[in-house]
Amino acid sequence: MAGILLPACAIFFSGLLCIIYFSKKRVNLLENTMYSVMIISILMDSILVTILQSFPSGGVSNLELAFVPLLNKIDFIFLILFCNCLFFYTMLITIPKFKEKFKIYRIPFVLLDIIMIVLIIFSQVNVINNGENYSAGGLAVYLVYILCLLYILLSIIVVLCNLKKVDRRHIPIFAIIFIMILIFILFQLNPYLIVISIALTFINYIMYFTIENPDLNQIKELNVAKDQAEKANRAKTDFLSNMSHEIRTPLNAIVGFSECMLDSTDLKETKEYAGDIVDASKQLLEIVNGILDISKIEANKVEIIPKNYNPREVFDGLRKLVLPRIKEKPIEFKMIFSPDLPGILRGDVAKVKQVILNILTNAAKYTDKGEIIFNVNCINRLDTKVCLMYISVKDTGRGIKKDKLETIFGKFERVDEDKNTTTEGTGLGLAITKGLVDLMGGRITVFSKYGEGSTFRVYLEQEIVSMEVPETNNNEEEEINYTDYNGKKVLIVDDSKINLKVAETLMKPYKFEVDTAISGEEALEKVNNKQYDLIFMDIMMPKMNGVETLYKLREKEDFETPVVALTADAIEGTDEKYLNVGFNSYLSKPIDRKLLNKVINKYLGGK
Ligand code: ADP
Repeated sequence: MAGILLPACAIFFSGLLCIIYFSKKRVNLLENTMYSVMIISILMDSILVTILQSFPSGGVSNLELAFVPLLNKIDFIFLILFCNCLFFYTMLITIPKFKEKFKIYRIPFVLLDIIMIVLIIFSQVNVINNGENYSAGGLAVYLVYILCLLYILLSIIVVLCNLKKVDRRHIPIFAIIFIMILIFILFQLNPYLIVISIALTFINYIMYFTIENPDLNQIKELNVAKDQAEKANRAKTDFLSNMSHEIRTPLNAIVGFSECMLDSTDLKETKEYAGDIVDASKQLLEIVNGILDISKIEANKVEIIPKNYNPREVFDGLRKLVLPRIKEKPIEFKMIFSPDLPGILRGDVAKVKQVILNILTNAAKYTDKGEIIFNVNCINRLDTKVCLMYISVKDTGRGIKKDKLETIFGKFERVDEDKNTTTEGTGLGLAITKGLVDLMGGRITVFSKYGEGSTFRVYLEQEIVSMEVPETNNNEEEEINYTDYNGKKVLIVDDSKINLKVAETLMKPYKFEVDTAISGEEALEKVNNKQYDLIFMDIMMPKMNGVETLYKLREKEDFETPVVALTADAIEGTDEKYLNVGFNSYLSKPIDRKLLNKVINKYLGGK
């Protein structure tokens, strides 16, 4: 009966630990589940050992012969569970990949446990009673030893093989392994020593106070969250400082040349300055659009808008856009279309254009001499009407180092910064490109040899509308023919005086009468006093925005004037959004003169 004291203490302490642990709010991790099983196993072990030791000592009665082996076998199952969970626990905190594939990796161990448990159930347990304490022997006991030792050995191997990853959390693991080895040695020396339950309870306590205390886990989680928040904040600061630098460059040119224009008296010189200002403004617009694009992609706010398009015409248009970038560099630009490229495809052409333009622009930017080969290939599955477009852009430029090939698709990632100082860029292009390709369900790859050149490949699936190649009309670059709309009346509504001035100046050649309103309220007042033929309405205005103003206008009985939305919100698809709320048409800012001409001709000339 004396042997009952230690296991009874183990019940008390294990029970107490279970109450404390399960009554606290815990973080739901696999490690915690393992720990939960460990403490429950030891509580059960302590209870079973206490029952075993409480049988009256002296001689082995029939009752004992029937119950003691059974209770021993149940106890062995809990010991195996404990050792198995300890091993999983060590794996989980040492090898992060184990967590991802836990469900698969645990299978062989669980199978091994099941086999061993079945063997234990059917093998013999010899109950030994020295008159004071019980002990057990026989095949079943040796099987338990083997399995538990195997798990302890595996835990030691895992820790030793990953010494580099060992951290504070491994200290108790080392202590536990040491204690367990000690228990086994002691047990071999004196099988009547009832120390296992209390020793394992002690192990559970060590783990609780060092790693498994829910408070400690929550602090750990808080630290991870804090690190993430700090990282995000740093990324935002880097983003802002990066952007302010990028934005400042073209702004500097705009302000500088504008001041030069103010001082200049020579018309030719003034025109040159104006040209430079237009170039810098376009660059600025490109940067701002880039920022908007990447934030939209990251916020999952980009939609796929499929349209029919002629791939030959679209890609040829891109070639025309890139050629000026090559300027006087000795580069030969080759464009090759696969002969079986369908005539009309259906897909998000705007995004396809943006992706390929980014890659072509990079090839032009980072190549000084040699050639750029732009190849559009395809695999047509006519039965399913799907074309796998496979576009490659191969250049003989500076190339990218092997270790940087992964990073170039990250935000603001520019490689070879020392060489890049003369090449403008934000490091956003490929991040946007990859984001868009992923969104379209495609794939992008890059092969590069530093100093020799790079090949970017994009794979995209597009729907085949027609195999027939339509005739293309090349009159896109025609000059604007301003029609004289003398006598017509146009109202422009915008809360920014500068924007009003820009719009007014762009509309001067049409010779119609232009009125301006600085707010929705003023617009309503003007419309009450005068009949307009066309109204341009800004959307984002304080107090009464463009949409509200439009609703108020439409409430008027005799109001039939076409209203065109003017907005800086240039998201693809917004045109439909504005048409749906009742605008007749939509123009994005900065205003494209050709699109403006189309709108004016449509509503004032009836074309
Ligand atoms: P950037 O605005 O700097 O061009 P990108 O995201 O488009 O930004 O590209 C990231 C980096 O990848 C570039 O800074 C450049 O160093 C490298 N890179 C991209 N395309 C090429 C290319 N065709 N040849 C060599 N380097 C390239």
